Amino acid sequence: MRDTDLYAQILGVEQPWRVTGVELRSSQGEVEVSVEHEGSAPLKCPMCGASVTRYDTRLRRWRHLPTCQYRTILAAQVPRVRCPEHGVKTIQVPWAEPGSGFTALFEALVIDWLREASTSAVARQLDLSWDQVDGVMQRAVERGLARRQLEVPRRIGVDETSFQKRHEYVTVVADLEGGVVQHVADGRGKEALGIYYESFSEEELAQIETVAMDMWRAYIAATSEALPGAESKIAFDKFHVAMHLGTAVDRVRREENRILRERGDDSLTNTKHLWLYHPDHLPEKSSAQFDQLVHKALKTSRAWMLKELAMEMWEHRDPHAAEKIFNAWYSWAIRSRLDPIKKVARMIKRNLQGILNAIAAGVTNARLEGINTVIQGLKRTARGFRSRPRFRNAIYFHLGGLDLYPDSLAHSKS
Ligand SMILES: [Zn+2]
Repeated sequence: MRDTDLYAQILGVEQPWRVTGVELRSSQGEVEVSVEHEGSAPLKCPMCGASVTRYDTRLRRWRHLPTCQYRTILAAQVPRVRCPEHGVKTIQVPWAEPGSGFTALFEALVIDWLREASTSAVARQLDLSWDQVDGVMQRAVERGLARRQLEVPRRIGVDETSFQKRHEYVTVVADLEGGVVQHVADGRGKEALGIYYESFSEEELAQIETVAMDMWRAYIAATSEALPGAESKIAFDKFHVAMHLGTAVDRVRREENRILRERGDDSLTNTKHLWLYHPDHLPEKSSAQFDQLVHKALKTSRAWMLKELAMEMWEHRDPHAAEKIFNAWYSWAIRSRLDPIKKVARMIKRNLQGILNAIAAGVTNARLEGINTVIQGLKRTARGFRSRPRFRNAIYFHLGGLDLYPDSLAHSKS
């Protein structure tokens, strides 16, 4: 087999295109494959499809998948055509998206790598610039969003997440059954969630049975306005309640730590994470230290026990049983003399109906926590995002369940 035939097969180059030459540049570790469009083949305008005549050709290059360890470049004299209606246009090539410097297969490779590693790591590994890799990601998300047909989920989860600076937020809406992020909006106001609801008709909105969220006024307001019967659909999930209680435990710990340190005792320093574990999940190596702390740090221990007791509400699927547990817990919490705990206890009491809704609907934390964990991971790997749109697209890329590959490959891989 001749090298030109070999490459025609490897690259999937078909009539009216043919491989005319293969040049190996060993010193540069590069193979360049030349491709030509047969002069006699009919040509079409890329805009309207009309049969048109050749105007001239332009040399263009695309980075392709490597041949063994050799960086492989596809080079072609691409015809330009003159259409009576659209003027002079470059025809579309079958192996690349318009305007891309990569073949579709190479873009797919970059997309596959981006699922596993950060933009800068992929750029290093594939010898590309950060902007080139980022460009592939942004185009992939645009394609995916343009192709997707949004369906109204039965259960949705809404959450806010900060990006870069502390007080800049985006709102993330997920389909809790599909585990897919459907919507990312700027800010965490009423409008951020309102826009999502506006993308559905009234009949579609009526199909939403549960909206899991944090006890956050703006989301409650947006949901109450958009959904009929919202008061029985809004569900304050265990994940968020546990986070509020966890924060309260840490506030108590910090205050107690300050007092202990004044007496030269720093046993509570750097123990924040120990108090966040469910007792059954505490790492073996920390259990002795934790046992000691529980007996020593009186206020922090009490706060931690109150948090663990509150979690017992979720051990029942029965909202009435949960309400009884809550009432007993509340009277203890409110007399605890631990201000951060008292504050959360009041918040829970105000929002009890939504918590009981979550228990009755059997809203689990797995999806919400899972999505949250992935987003926190994205922030860590990216070491912050340069802009809100980039953060948004990274969430869509990793969690949007989108069909990301170039058109010529779409649906053939996933
Ligand atoms: Zn035309």
